[in-house]
Amino acid sequence: MKDELVKNQIYTAEITSYTSEGAGVCRVRGRAVFVPGTLQGEIWEIKLVKVGKTAVWARGERCLQASEQRREPVCPLFKSCGGCALQHMSYEEELHFKQERVRETLLRIGGAEPVMDHIRAANLSRPWRYKVIFAVGERDGEPVTGYYRPRSHEIVPVENCPAVPLAANRAAAAVRRWMCALEIPAYNEALGQDGIRHLLVRVSASSGKSMVCLASSRELSGHEIRALTEKLRFACPEMTSLALCLNRTRGNTVLAGEFRTLWGNDTLEDMLCGLRFALSPASFFQVNPPQAEQLYDLALSLAAPKADETVLDLYCGAGTISLCLAQRAGQVIGVEVIDAAVENAKRSAQENNVLNAEFLCADAEKAVEIFCQRGLHPQLVIVDPPRKGLAEGVISCIAELAPERVVYVSCDPGTLARDLRRFADAGYEAVRGCTVDMFPRTSHVETVVLLSKADK
Ligand code: SAH
Repeated sequence: MKDELVKNQIYTAEITSYTSEGAGVCRVRGRAVFVPGTLQGEIWEIKLVKVGKTAVWARGERCLQASEQRREPVCPLFKSCGGCALQHMSYEEELHFKQERVRETLLRIGGAEPVMDHIRAANLSRPWRYKVIFAVGERDGEPVTGYYRPRSHEIVPVENCPAVPLAANRAAAAVRRWMCALEIPAYNEALGQDGIRHLLVRVSASSGKSMVCLASSRELSGHEIRALTEKLRFACPEMTSLALCLNRTRGNTVLAGEFRTLWGNDTLEDMLCGLRFALSPASFFQVNPPQAEQLYDLALSLAAPKADETVLDLYCGAGTISLCLAQRAGQVIGVEVIDAAVENAKRSAQENNVLNAEFLCADAEKAVEIFCQRGLHPQLVIVDPPRKGLAEGVISCIAELAPERVVYVSCDPGTLARDLRRFADAGYEAVRGCTVDMFPRTSHVETVVLLSKADK
């Protein structure tokens, strides 16, 4: 029997790998122990803080031998916030961690070993300023904006966040002032208190104009809306659109429910890959435009659409990938469940004079079933699902549509790996792929994989 590990025991150990969130991993008496804030190759004196059945967590007490890849975090809130968990490592180490994490996950969970090209790095600026959402809460009766502390419902207040554009920091301060002045509560699910939940600030990379969307579980009065508009217009002169998302759902989904423009335009315009896109607050749009361009460029080069091919773009959002594909493919059909995003995609197709793309508002699973029944035969299918990945029915219907190639764009290596295994069972082999660093300084990674029909 292994020696029992006990809370508060102190050990000396070498960090040999990382968890998927980027915490260091060492082995103590045969068990894996997770130590946040440590780097591979370092030697630490650690203190066990939580000994669970499945996981053991420790705190790094003293670094006995530091890695050359260790860096001083830019943000003073690094330790408490958890929003940008990799600031203590060099960017090279971060890229190495991400590339390795994807390779290892695809193999272990998916049994897949596609040829992985070198990770596409960001031109990392400090501060990095690509995030778009703050959580809104209260602390000691005062409104705060920031991020959830890892594994908790507590919001760490952040005022000068290096991860968001300056306009977002200004908008957050204005919202806090507005909540204080008008005594508007923050949402608190545990207390059953209705109020403000989240703040979304998107800044168009091409024009510098911004869209602000406030998510609230309660209606705002006319007086509250006027005061909010005035404070935000003063703090964010570049703002051209202010919207409310009346989100009464439970849990921490940010944008759900009814959307209403409170002031200005209904959409924000941005450019991506030389195309113009109009975006509603409800529509998904990749953060970090230079990296989004790398991602689409990669997806397109792996997909290699030909001029006589029909392409299905499932989970198409505001049609970004679809319209890029349409430049080279014969015909593109985009499928997306959010109505506003589909409307955005149709309008953007028109404005960019794209005549060979059409868009369908539907659940992806239902849409592929219908395409199967109609006997559609696309040569290429692109999927870009949310983190939970693909429903099994989507994979079996895609296999029935029998495209030659499938390109899977994924923001979660774990569900990607699970789905690659299901695709393998359905006759599609993961051939080649690449990871893109869409979210520098966080542990999130985006991966694109090309699958090919095996029995050709
Ligand atoms: N390809 C787009 C969007 C990717 S995000 C881009 O690169 O911008 C994933 C998208 O899937 C979101 O727009 C979300 O609204 C949509 N979505 C989520 N569940 C869906 C479902 N069951 N059916 C169709 N679309 C869905």
